[in-house]
Amino acid sequence: EALGPTITVGEILVEIMATSIGNGFLTPQPLIGPFASGAPAIFISQVARCGGAAGIVAAVGDDDFGRLNVERLAGDGVDVSAIAVIPDKPTGSAFVRYRADGARDFVFNIAHSAAGETAMTDKAQALIARAGHVHVMGSAFAIPGVGRILIDAIGSVKARGGSVSFDPNLRKELVRGAEGRRLVDDMLAVCDLLLPSGEELFVASGQETEEAAVAALLEGGVGEVVLKRGAAGSTHFSHAHGRIDAAGLVVEEIDPTGAGDCFGAAYLTCRRLGMTPAQALAYGNAAGARNVTRQGPMEGVGSLAELDQLMSASAATA
Ligand code: ATP
Ligand code: MG
Repeated sequence: EALGPTITVGEILVEIMATSIGNGFLTPQPLIGPFASGAPAIFISQVARCGGAAGIVAAVGDDDFGRLNVERLAGDGVDVSAIAVIPDKPTGSAFVRYRADGARDFVFNIAHSAAGETAMTDKAQALIARAGHVHVMGSAFAIPGVGRILIDAIGSVKARGGSVSFDPNLRKELVRGAEGRRLVDDMLAVCDLLLPSGEELFVASGQETEEAAVAALLEGGVGEVVLKRGAAGSTHFSHAHGRIDAAGLVVEEIDPTGAGDCFGAAYLTCRRLGMTPAQALAYGNAAGARNVTRQGPMEGVGSLAELDQLMSASAATA
């Protein structure tokens, strides 16, 4: 990691969860939270817990929801110097309830929260100037100021020989608009590592089979495509290493939110630490699996030692 920390840009939120399964929030009901959350925050927490240097450009309010998040990330070892505190906006929030079929209902407060005010600052510029890798979280493009910051960060990091990863994490309705499509294409043109799940592979590539999609992306210059397959695990594709499949760990899924973010962070960090794709896949799978065993979007983030432990425990029961 001679090139400097992995950084990301985007929403920091608290998540407040319904404790019962059902449809939405139309009646009073028990809730649990606040939990630290936001896809970029989950990701960067897992980078730091894996032993990678890590920082985030974001914005929170001057309230306990903001402090909870900043203290959590700082405790994980994340550089929080570029998290702005917006005095007159509340920290972002998401209320979430799972339905019986696993779908989720949300009430979001992001666009009009402090997170919606994320903008370039002197502190952000200073962090970007030190960074060696930029991770782009598709969900962050919902904030108007974030695209600009990411473009600056990518330019700066690439000019120093650094690298870029991209988790599309976008609703396909969004990508199908012309602007969303252009965003995805711009990111594909610069990304060294693409981390899609499910439909995202097809949406990103415009192809209809896994094989055609991967071939098109690698041909287009993406260095590695790593496909997340939920409980089934993950697959790495690259010209250098070919195809590598890694089965998922067998765990009890309590709360799937955040698995993809933890997976991507562990995979990327292990690669940046010099591990092979196969080793990085194993840690990515373990990070995703560990996170789904805990209630709360980033309560299951684990260190490499904790991920090792989960892998040996799971191998022993298999
Ligand atoms: P997210 O909902 O966070 O966007 P995602 O769709 O991006 O998730 P998933 O494929 O759901 O990503 O999960 C990422 C990784 O986490 C998987 O590749 C797998 O390694 C691990 N994982 C997820 N769910 C489970 C599970 N139920 N059991 C074991 N491992 C899991
Ligand atoms: Mg995802």
